[in-house]
Amino acid sequence: MPDSPLLTEASSRLEPALKYAEVSEEIITELQFPKSSLSVSIPVRLDDGSLKMFQGYRVRYNDNRGPTKGGIRYHPQVSLDEVESLAFWMTFKCALMNLPYGGGKGGITVNARSLSKGELERLSRGYISAIADFIGPDKDIPAPDMYTNATIMGWMMDQYSTIKRQITPGVVTGKPISMGGSQGRETATSVGAFEVINTLLAKFEQTPQKTTVAIQGFGNVGATLAQLLSQVGYRVVAVSDSQGGIYASKGLDIPSIRRYKFANQGLQAVYCENSVCNIVEHEVISNADLLKLDVDVLIPAALENQITRENANQIQAKYIFEVANGPTTSEADAILEENECYVFPDILVNAGGVTVSYFEWVQNRSGYYWTAEKVNQRLKERMNIETEQTWSIAQEFSVSMRNACYIHALNRLGETRTSR
Ligand code: GLU
Repeated sequence: MPDSPLLTEASSRLEPALKYAEVSEEIITELQFPKSSLSVSIPVRLDDGSLKMFQGYRVRYNDNRGPTKGGIRYHPQVSLDEVESLAFWMTFKCALMNLPYGGGKGGITVNARSLSKGELERLSRGYISAIADFIGPDKDIPAPDMYTNATIMGWMMDQYSTIKRQITPGVVTGKPISMGGSQGRETATSVGAFEVINTLLAKFEQTPQKTTVAIQGFGNVGATLAQLLSQVGYRVVAVSDSQGGIYASKGLDIPSIRRYKFANQGLQAVYCENSVCNIVEHEVISNADLLKLDVDVLIPAALENQITRENANQIQAKYIFEVANGPTTSEADAILEENECYVFPDILVNAGGVTVSYFEWVQNRSGYYWTAEKVNQRLKERMNIETEQTWSIAQEFSVSMRNACYIHALNRLGETRTSR
């Protein structure tokens, strides 16, 4: 077996769920391995005339329940091992949400911010040319992930359609609306997370007005979620991006921070221009400090492996909602459970994105497009159904919500595998 520490860590989550899931050993054995992984080298002509090679990956982890589905990440840390572990999570996320999909993921090892728009387009088109035979609307359907967006998905759909000589909107989701994208896709992850957070906090009688929140990650997902939460009365006291964060015990003025961050490409500008935030006093804090704040709710919405054995004991939050994929390691999970901190897992909390991707794919295939109201109503319905079902499993077996989600997803995966 290849040396894959990240995938090994990801798949270790299955172990505690096995005791309760109705699946055979064989199915578990199969789920430890990706079905197929592709590595590609992509030559890109840079603006200065030179040629640069980039490494890209696409993994189809498991397709028992349908075509594989999952985003494409552009990040300097992308490796095959990381993409495989993300594809593993997608397999469970799609099963948990009862979507007719298996799990997949892709990525390119690149700092997207260092490229011009033209270079980024050539890289994205080159990547699709390299993986075109590996993907397809009935095979494997990419979508946005970290540092990829609707514009990039549009280039990808166009490139694929050119190669296949056929307009194929259903090969990629998260596209611009003008190219067959869905209403509500851009905000879907945040809207889904907001739904899950409200539903679950209500079970602890934790009302918005008496709840303080810290959010690590202020990109599209983290910032939209911060806005949704503050609109209904949650006190968002801290937010951060890759450069660092800000904290105000009275609560931050999220709309102004959002406007400023997007106009200035980062929170850093906010640190200096205090006045724009309508918050007279705020402290500048580091990403590491944010995780340890004395708040009710902590929302990691950035990278993997943020809460680890090293800092888990310093976490003061009572509830953690994982909006990022894999922000808590399994060692940290055990420590948090001991400290009576409730962790609500990524495969449920951030599943709104892939759920609306599914709606987009359905709309592409039928050629009939839904209103934003319809999309959001169906998204909320699905989030609530699966949140309630996993909550019941957690109560029934007295297990953590993470285990309950894996039990629920494993049962679905097992049932399909057995039928096939
Ligand atoms: N990248 C997102 C995720 O991790 C969305 C995937 C999709 O829409 O296919 O769930």
